[in-house]
Amino acid sequence: MSERDTGRLAGRGAVITGGGRGIGAAVAAALVEEGARVVVSARSTDEIEGVADELREQGGEAWAVTCDVGDPDQIERLAAAAGDRLGAVDILVNNAGIARSAPLKALSLQEWSLIQEINVTGTFLCTKAFLGPMVERGWGRIVNIASIAGKMGAPYIAAYAASKHAVIGFTRSVAAEVAPSGVTVNAICPGYVDTPMTEGSVANIVEKTGHDADRVMKNLRAMSPQNRLMEPEEVAYLVVTLCDERAKGVTAQSLVLDGGGVQS
Ligand code: NDP
Repeated sequence: MSERDTGRLAGRGAVITGGGRGIGAAVAAALVEEGARVVVSARSTDEIEGVADELREQGGEAWAVTCDVGDPDQIERLAAAAGDRLGAVDILVNNAGIARSAPLKALSLQEWSLIQEINVTGTFLCTKAFLGPMVERGWGRIVNIASIAGKMGAPYIAAYAASKHAVIGFTRSVAAEVAPSGVTVNAICPGYVDTPMTEGSVANIVEKTGHDADRVMKNLRAMSPQNRLMEPEEVAYLVVTLCDERAKGVTAQSLVLDGGGVQS
């Protein structure tokens, strides 16, 4: 018998959106490590297949299902495909997200709408697609990856911060709605994490300010009292913890993971 057969999440079925790289890929690996069977999903088929292949090579059960969370039809197809592969889906990690920064005067309606569509409406539609059967079975875990930008604003991120504040409000309301059912709904709010998204943010700042990348990275690290970026595995650890049976009383929360900067 392998460790996975006795893991804390042995036999649980999990879907991770945005699972092709960064935080989502780390979450998929951590869930498999604890015995869950996972469907990893994103738009880039090659990336999610790479993640699923690697997890299978390590002895886990993993499948890749391509889905753009900006498209309601694709979300329906993801739910059907995940049901086929996993049977019951016990865990949903709404991780797919995009970040853009711009001063308000340069923020177009199109850009604003895209960020809300992927970060907020995507989370809403995926939750809707998977929540019902969890409530019927009386067990479920939904973890939404928000951000410290869901707890505080900052210059140039009005659209992103609005989307992440919305994810937290959504999390609290859905959690309250299903509280008696055995399904918990929580959000995790990381500070800057060492992922391709942050690499993109650094490149964007370098392009706009002309500062060198090392200086920009130093400034991002300094935003945490621990003077570092968070690691994707730290977010994954919190996801696994929230999915644990013993975390059944933790719901409607938005847990900050930033080395102590935002205290809430
Ligand atoms: P990455 O950009 O490194 O990865 C994002 C993942 O989401 C990719 O797999 C990407 O794949 C997928 N994705 C993006 N758009 C869509 C879409 N429309 N439909 C489905 N999948 C999509 O980001 P991170 O790992 O850094 O971030 C993950 C989450 O964590 C995001 O919600 C982000 O806002 C949040 N977060 C990140 C922080 C950071 O510092 N990095 C800090 C706080 C929160 P593809 O493009 O192929 O679809």
